[in-house]
Amino acid sequence: MKTKFKTYATAVLVILLLFSSKEIIAQDSVVYKSESQVTVFPVLWQQTSAEYRALCYQAFNFATLRLNEIPKKEIKKGNLAIITDLDETILDNSYVGAQLIKENKQMSDAEWNRWTNASKTTEVPGAVAFLQEASKKGITIFYISNRDTASVKTTLIDLKNLQLPNADAEHCLFKSNTSSKEVRRMAIEKEYKIVMLLGDNLNDFKNTFEKKSIADRFIATDAEQELWGKKFIVLPNATYGEWVSTLYNHEHKSDEEKEKIRRELLKGY
Ligand SMILES: [Mg+2]
Repeated sequence: MKTKFKTYATAVLVILLLFSSKEIIAQDSVVYKSESQVTVFPVLWQQTSAEYRALCYQAFNFATLRLNEIPKKEIKKGNLAIITDLDETILDNSYVGAQLIKENKQMSDAEWNRWTNASKTTEVPGAVAFLQEASKKGITIFYISNRDTASVKTTLIDLKNLQLPNADAEHCLFKSNTSSKEVRRMAIEKEYKIVMLLGDNLNDFKNTFEKKSIADRFIATDAEQELWGKKFIVLPNATYGEWVSTLYNHEHKSDEEKEKIRRELLKGY
């Protein structure tokens, strides 16, 4: 089983060398420079509001509750896994957004690498204690992230610094040729029973949310109503995510067009 995953992880790493893009730029389409007026509030919210902190604790408290509901005999089988996203689920990257706003700069590969190379990330409140607890119980943790290969080494430094469990390449399934995480989830599912998924983007849970309209994302969310706070644990992220590109119908738009669309989407009374 382990050999199989080692082979898979190696294959992923090799493919990662061939493709280079990143979640925060490609998928989430937040441009800090031109949209700094839009991003300053959510970044401040993440960094200064006790409400953000409380929401994170709430999420991990629910996760712990679900963890404790798993029967011991189930855990003893040794094939249970938790899948978690990294950015804004376990790792706090608000610092790079804040820095870009302060320097009036736009997100780029170079800026993202400058941030990750600094190894200055901190945990999302409550994340480390929860994952350590799950690991102690005998559950395997997999990190499915859309970070690129350039971030693999530095990410592992961060994961080890934070003393996160399963902090090795075998348990890090990073982006290969698609930002969809479905294939990577399915690969884990072949060997493990997934008991919980954690993420800040609904694409971290299921592929039914990918590249949909606002209305269809609502429908897909309603369809899983029973799972939120149970198998699916959601962390708050008001700065970036698929919800942002959804505003613009996942299409490239000029800053002026984006501003116009945002105003049109506001629902008054
Ligand atoms: Mg994320």
